[in-house]
Amino acid sequence: MEHAGQAHFGIAAASYHHVLCERRGVLADVAVEDLAQTAAGLTARTGFEITPSGQVSRGRCLRCRTG
Ligand SMILES: [Zn+2]
Repeated sequence: MEHAGQAHFGIAAASYHHVLCERRGVLADVAVEDLAQTAAGLTARTGFEITPSGQVSRGRCLRCRTG
């Protein structure tokens, strides 16, 4: 049963990355496709390749940035 649960989590992690707003504590999902474009820019600039799988990036959401 544990194996089945891990497999399910793996599928979910492959589809979405999570972003956490440090100010409001809001957790949101980001499509890995969108993150991949950011990651590609990072790789082009620094040569560093990130692996967006089941990770949480911290930052500020749009409302906190603009409001
Ligand atoms: Zn926020």
